Amino acid sequence: MALLVQKYGGTSVGTIERIEAVADRVSRHKQKGDDIVVVVSAMSGETNRLIELAKSVDSTPSAREMDVLLSTGEQVTIALLSMALMKRGVEARSYTGSQVRITTDSAHGKARIQEIDTAAMRTDLDAGRVIVVAGFQGADEHGNITTLGRGGSDTTGVALAAALKADECQIYTDVDGVYTTDPRVVDSARRLDKITFEEMLEMASLGSKVLQIRSVEFAGKYQVPLRVLSSFVEGEGTLITTEGNKNMEQPAVSGIAFNRDEAKLTLKGVPDIPGIASRILGPISDANIEVDMIVQNVSADGTTDFTFTVHRNDYEKAFSILEGIEGELGARATLTNAKIAKVSIVGVGMRSHAGVASTMFRALADESINIQLISTSEIKVSVIIDEKYMELAVRALHSAFKLSDSAAGISEA
Ligand code: ADP
Ligand code: ASP
Ligand code: MG
Repeated sequence: MALLVQKYGGTSVGTIERIEAVADRVSRHKQKGDDIVVVVSAMSGETNRLIELAKSVDSTPSAREMDVLLSTGEQVTIALLSMALMKRGVEARSYTGSQVRITTDSAHGKARIQEIDTAAMRTDLDAGRVIVVAGFQGADEHGNITTLGRGGSDTTGVALAAALKADECQIYTDVDGVYTTDPRVVDSARRLDKITFEEMLEMASLGSKVLQIRSVEFAGKYQVPLRVLSSFVEGEGTLITTEGNKNMEQPAVSGIAFNRDEAKLTLKGVPDIPGIASRILGPISDANIEVDMIVQNVSADGTTDFTFTVHRNDYEKAFSILEGIEGELGARATLTNAKIAKVSIVGVGMRSHAGVASTMFRALADESINIQLISTSEIKVSVIIDEKYMELAVRALHSAFKLSDSAAGISEA
């Protein structure tokens, strides 16, 4: 007998028929003798619909009220799924995030889980009940409803699995596992049997939204066995593991991630003197804007061009800050570009393979794609390119690193 936490995403509970199918699956597992905690998202499209409703009232609505509103999406699905389970003779009980006592900090819209009280859940499990918990939400110490950020139900699932010491956290979604890249962009993308936490963390943070990044962090920290699988078809899915099979030859690159979430800003012709980077980025960080890539050119005439990228949501704020300091820094101009994309190759195998970056750059050059910025870490190389070439770049890299070829699989037998 195992204790399983099963999380079902928006598409998997998108209609009454899909909710009935989830109830069938949960009751099958229950009949096998497993203890089940289910975490559900709002029905697909519902969170977006609620955001639009709020915006139609006020373009900058109160963050507290926004969380009260958004948490209702998940409250609908927990009740419907519990009803569908009870109809099948399965004893089930639904809980919102605050009822289950998921305590978070007070950062509305991006709250972090601080504590989970498992006592009530233990009582239910001991009584043979299936517990159905609303994902993506909790409450702060004052009882205010909070939400965990888009895609946050993944994190609720993993956090509950960690708190309950579950045997596995299963993330059921609309694809049958983690692929070498988004299968909606590259037809020949291949499902991975296994991927390491480190790689999954990079993939998630570089744009693969199949798992919310915080859920991967959580699973790595608390050693929660994590699996991504399809709620539509049966299969083994993808297991996220601690550094895989040491006996296997690792391919250099395991996956390709991409996103359009960034924007680029450049201060032209600033004096190349000590302290300039901090005078530019100080006000940016004071405004709570996170900077991703940074490039400062070597100068010949005593001036330099200073370029950095930020999330697209922060782009206008960052631009107005630069306009404000441009004069006092003696810069020639501020240039910006929001039509960029970041494409990244990820793989723990890079540690032991030379020439990975040059293969990447050659593949992009062969497609005449110009690289605007580059950043690297031990297990990834990211480039910023023109947004309109993003899908072409992803396909070219997928083929350059032979990711469709099953022989290259990270740990395929
Ligand atoms: P859910 O609603 O179940 O949480 P999401 O839409 O958040 O589902 O995540 C699943 C989607 O992630 C897939 O439909 C797929 O388009 C996308 N995706 C992006 N990168 C990958 C990848 N490397 N492997 C699998 N899916 C990916
Ligand atoms: N419903 C929320 C969202 O759409 C949380 C989730 O689905 O994980 O972002
Ligand atoms: Mg998701």
